[in-house]
Amino acid sequence: MAALESRSPAGDPKKPEWLRVRYNAGETKEVLELLKKLGLHTVCSGANCPNLGECWARRTATFMILGDRCTRNCRFCDVPHGKAGEFLPPDPGEPRRIAEAARDLKLKHAVVTCVTRDDLPDGGASVFAAVIREIRDLNPETTVEVLVSDLGGNEEALGTVLAARPDVFNHNVETVPSLTPKIRSGAKFERSLAVLRRAKETGRSVVKTGLILGLGEEDGELFETFRAIRDTGCDILTLSQYLRPSQDHWPLARYVSPAEFDRYREEALKLGFPCVLAAPLVRSSYKAAEAMEAVRAADVHTFSKVFKE
Ligand code: SF4
Repeated sequence: MAALESRSPAGDPKKPEWLRVRYNAGETKEVLELLKKLGLHTVCSGANCPNLGECWARRTATFMILGDRCTRNCRFCDVPHGKAGEFLPPDPGEPRRIAEAARDLKLKHAVVTCVTRDDLPDGGASVFAAVIREIRDLNPETTVEVLVSDLGGNEEALGTVLAARPDVFNHNVETVPSLTPKIRSGAKFERSLAVLRRAKETGRSVVKTGLILGLGEEDGELFETFRAIRDTGCDILTLSQYLRPSQDHWPLARYVSPAEFDRYREEALKLGFPCVLAAPLVRSSYKAAEAMEAVRAADVHTFSKVFKE
């Protein structure tokens, strides 16, 4: 068994028991080998996701397109930051290989995210559209969820992704307005809200976003943030615990207990979110298929309430 996230960077509060995750490395071998063979990246390993063991053992993975280095450098994120000149042009074979991986893994729901590529004229939007098309071509029964950057506020690029009609369109707001300029690199709180609003206005996709807790946000501003997000028409909200990757990352303010996550879920549900997933180890793509199905079946309130990590 391998242990994930079992230690905290020096000086951080002691990691509580509810964040200790164990997995059997043998169960993840098959997914790892397939991804290696197809030359694909996942955010599961790229961002050291604590759910890697569970998801890979279930033969699901969140593909990360456009390379393994990001042009941005958010203070909470473990995805490697690249320097100018280190970025390769998009790989034209990548969309097909992702479709092949979805077929080989027999995915019912494929989740595709990216490193942010501000160096590309459309931020990689056309690659997202190609991935959606290729997955559907090879896997007509598979639903597709995309988790995109703010595309630098490029409206045309956003239109390219939305026109490909992903089943779920996800863009993470990540944190409250006052922390956004300190923690998110190259992002603006209002711009992220505008991305969600536009996605909802198209009326084609379930719209989703996520917030990370434990970064130093206060309840009052957090609840205002829930309201601002809900006002965009967003359908699914995920709330998760910040796990500080290293001492070089943004300091951890606190561990939020499971009972507090329950309280935050109730507050968000009161605002009318159809679906809220809130627990320490929730990540934006965790149980993504179940959340989408709950929204589509309109059994969302029950799903949100009974959801436990
Ligand atoms: S833009 Fe996304 S992938 Fe890049 S550093 Fe920020 S959170 Fe990480």
